[in-house]
Amino acid sequence: MIAYTHEVSHEWQRRVTVREFHQGSLLIDDLCDADFLLRAAATHHGEDAQYPCPICGGSLRVVKWVHSEKLGRRSNTARSEDEIEQLVGEVGPITVHFVEVCPVCKWNFLLKEVTAAPVV
Ligand SMILES: [Zn+2]
Repeated sequence: MIAYTHEVSHEWQRRVTVREFHQGSLLIDDLCDADFLLRAAATHHGEDAQYPCPICGGSLRVVKWVHSEKLGRRSNTARSEDEIEQLVGEVGPITVHFVEVCPVCKWNFLLKEVTAAPVV
């Protein structure tokens, strides 16, 4: 079992960004730039978000990226919940980034950063 702690949410920044886009002060090209790797990760490792894309209304995916020096080359890769549990069991607490990605318009945003830690 793992728990997500030390959450740093970027929800407020997301709201500001989406509002600025709809007001016309941000261009779609500046926001919707998910590269091939990110879109593929979202498709294969992501989960459906429970809400539509804020830019185009398409279905969003949320993908989890793991970060830790202890992970070596496995750091900065997309992982499923089960894989994250395995990695935490192996190396201890790691950082997980939740990124929402729209495969349609390429919108992407870092929603929050958390620490995944074993439940003791
Ligand atoms: Zn979209």
